[in-house]
Amino acid sequence: MEPTAATILSSLTNPSITDSDRDLISRAFDRAKELHQGQKRKSGQPYFFHVYETALTLARWGMDGTTVAAGLLHDTLEDTKYSEKELTKEFGKEIAFLVSGVTKIGRIKYRGNQAQAETLKKMVLALSEDIRVVFVKLADRMHNMRTLSYLPLDKQRRIATETAEIYAPLAYRLGLGTVSGELEDMAFPFLHPEEHRSLKKLLQAVLPHGETYINRVKEKITEELAQQKISVIQIDSRVKRISSLYKKLKRHEMEIQKIHDLIALRIIVEKVEDCYAVLGLIHSLWPPLPGLIKDYIALPKPNGYRSLHTTVICLDNKPTEFQVRTAVMHHENEYGIAAHWAYHEAKGGEKKETIFADAHRLSWINQLKQWQHEINDPDEFISSLKIDFFKDRIFVITPKGEAVDLPAGATAVDFAYAIHSDIGDHCLGAKVNGRMVQLDQELQSGDAVEIITQKNKRPNEAWLNFVKTRHAKARIRSVLRSHEVLPQKTLTFVITALDRVGLVKDISSIFSTQKINLISLESSPPAHGSLVTIKAVVSNEVQNKADALALRLRSIPTVQRVNYRHN
Ligand code: MN
Repeated sequence: MEPTAATILSSLTNPSITDSDRDLISRAFDRAKELHQGQKRKSGQPYFFHVYETALTLARWGMDGTTVAAGLLHDTLEDTKYSEKELTKEFGKEIAFLVSGVTKIGRIKYRGNQAQAETLKKMVLALSEDIRVVFVKLADRMHNMRTLSYLPLDKQRRIATETAEIYAPLAYRLGLGTVSGELEDMAFPFLHPEEHRSLKKLLQAVLPHGETYINRVKEKITEELAQQKISVIQIDSRVKRISSLYKKLKRHEMEIQKIHDLIALRIIVEKVEDCYAVLGLIHSLWPPLPGLIKDYIALPKPNGYRSLHTTVICLDNKPTEFQVRTAVMHHENEYGIAAHWAYHEAKGGEKKETIFADAHRLSWINQLKQWQHEINDPDEFISSLKIDFFKDRIFVITPKGEAVDLPAGATAVDFAYAIHSDIGDHCLGAKVNGRMVQLDQELQSGDAVEIITQKNKRPNEAWLNFVKTRHAKARIRSVLRSHEVLPQKTLTFVITALDRVGLVKDISSIFSTQKINLISLESSPPAHGSLVTIKAVVSNEVQNKADALALRLRSIPTVQRVNYRHN
């Protein structure tokens, strides 16, 4: 089909598009077409087709007029004689900024090993300055991936690696769940050709049975929903993406038979209340598998994803996953930007400012900015990016109910440092879901974490062995360096007690009323019955008080035994 400006204009989904936006897009269309005249892609298609597809994608994602126009012009600086000066004069500073940002990012050639530190850092800087640069780049990459097979093999590999390791995670973090998945799926066959072939075969063998089964479940649930008079917009099923199936199989060393969400049923309803009603109905029909009920409505994923998930023992005793969400959530999960972003005119000025409708959803951007100030070494910054930013994430909850975004494997100490450096520095103990835990225990998504701090407490060198975030590591090192603490002689109290609410508080208050600072306070989970062992470490300076302290500790209700030793 011949590209036309009218096709782009009719694909715009952003509700706040104005007539001048339309005019801008039409002008950009004409100029880009003229500038790329005669150029061809490796696929043999006219070059203009590529920028046209990029703009169409941006229009469908709900981007503003400026960004769609920038999509049309995104390759003019790199691939035509058009200069930045001419671009600025004809289309204004904003578009020139976006296009030159995309051009700069395009020059970074990520190969997955050597850190192209400075350049990648610039990309992140551009990202936090005007994130629309990244949207244009993502739309550009979508089309490039679709035509990747026309490129020479070594280029295919490099671009696929970059897509899987940089752009797909970025898209995910921006709330473009579907885009992220599509990018990963498109990169997968280039990166793992053999696994791709065998997984495809495996899926083809399993899926036909899956579909008849899913249809039976669909019938049953439709009938029940009608009986309960819950109105449903749509019930469909989604097949797990091949790239995400691969990751899951690898992560858990599983057989395909053990994967319960190969096909999931997706129920789309009108109102949020209906989501919970449907979940209740599902659970009344089939027993849920413990630990697999996920309420991403009350607690959205860090990228804004909202839905209810549950896996139940369904027909034929088969574990089956259900996803329940409203139509609005469904749209946001797929192409969340328009919904997450609001564009408004800054008062009194011409400058168009981009703000988040819900800023804390993307608070990681601010985190990045903060890290840039704290970490000066570019190499270290890049490795912190790889560890903290691109890897799998978990989210845990503060006592105030705020979600904190951490890398998988993070511990309470990482959490403490993510909240505030001060809290990390003075972290004494931690409670997870109301129970005291060891500071090195790995946190799980959804954990409610509370940090117990104490004034004169300092970071412990041993923390360096288990903290996961670079931020925590860097901070602990710098505090240790600044104090050059000599190994301290300590006194450890080992308290055995029946676990109960308030036990830990009673123990720590014995020390605080004596004005004794605890170096650490850790409890091991009940080994037999509900007996817990709590270790309280204090400085050896108080050794003359050891017996008196042991006696006081012994007098705490439910405490059965108190021992102490000098270290
Ligand atoms: Mn391009």
